[in-house]
Amino acid sequence: MILLISDLHLQEERPDITRAFLDLLDGRARHAKALYILGDFFEAWIGDDAMTAFQLSICQALRQLSDSGTAVYLMHGNRDFLIGADFCRAAGCTLLADPSVVELGGEAVLLMHGDTLCTRDVGYMKMRRYLRNPVSLWILRHLPLATRQKLARKLRNESRAQVRAKATDIVDVTPEQVPRVMAAHGVRTLVHGHTHRPAIHKLMVDGEPARRIVLGDWDRHGWTLQVDEQGFALEPFDFAC
Ligand code: MN
Repeated sequence: MILLISDLHLQEERPDITRAFLDLLDGRARHAKALYILGDFFEAWIGDDAMTAFQLSICQALRQLSDSGTAVYLMHGNRDFLIGADFCRAAGCTLLADPSVVELGGEAVLLMHGDTLCTRDVGYMKMRRYLRNPVSLWILRHLPLATRQKLARKLRNESRAQVRAKATDIVDVTPEQVPRVMAAHGVRTLVHGHTHRPAIHKLMVDGEPARRIVLGDWDRHGWTLQVDEQGFALEPFDFAC
């Protein structure tokens, strides 16, 4: 059995989400062959050298899971793209490139965070290209801690204001982009997060039936995609009180 999750936005301010995640690690994830985290695992990440006690405790919990025999794969989201090799080494997880094709349930499946599918959001795509090139990443990682904290706050506030101001269809995926990307990778199943619109969409790719599985964000409840002999099951679950 394999589990996929995304968009937990882990933060100290949401102990209910943290608890639910730790419960998942002690429960279903223990029995899983692999756990895939498809981005925005943390609400914010300003560098592996600036881990808070809270973030360190999550790192250690992941380590316990990977030590117990569950392979843990982590993909960057738009909130936590500064997660680096030091964190992954400490947590015992493998950083997955976005996009990646992996074999799940006997088929090739394309995994993405999902932000690169929202191509109609031209302003965001421009900023992403600027922030995520190797030179910018190097500079970001080497800025003084206080500067990075200030920058992260600014980006978060801007992102919140923009999401409110932008039409809802431009913060969702571009419909034509999906079959294009899936065809380019030769897959009939795509799994992504980011949009906070959990669903399984049917579509056609190169004249064949295909599906796009959108993971849910963890807020009022959690979401997991479980892959086993039964197939792919996308399900919400309630947080324990
Ligand atoms: Mn995101």
